[in-house]
Amino acid sequence: MPIYEYKCKKCGNRFEHLARRLAETAPDCPKCGTPKPVKQLSTFSARVAVAAPASPCASGRCPGNASARSSCASGACPFSKS
Ligand SMILES: [Zn+2]
Repeated sequence: MPIYEYKCKKCGNRFEHLARRLAETAPDCPKCGTPKPVKQLSTFSARVAVAAPASPCASGRCPGNASARSSCASGACPFSKS
């Protein structure tokens, strides 16, 4: 069964959903309840992308301070662009 990753258009929450059928409709955002989240690359593909020479933030080696690192996940960290 494929695991799909979705991103909420409203709050930006990313979550995974285990699809039991290929044609299964996307779930609502578990955080804010907004329907029709945007489907992301599969978890497998995402992990491959992280393994590539990506930004230091994605690999957990952000050179920034604690406050900069807290923004790594959102892409707002100034070090996220390698
Ligand atoms: Zn949401």
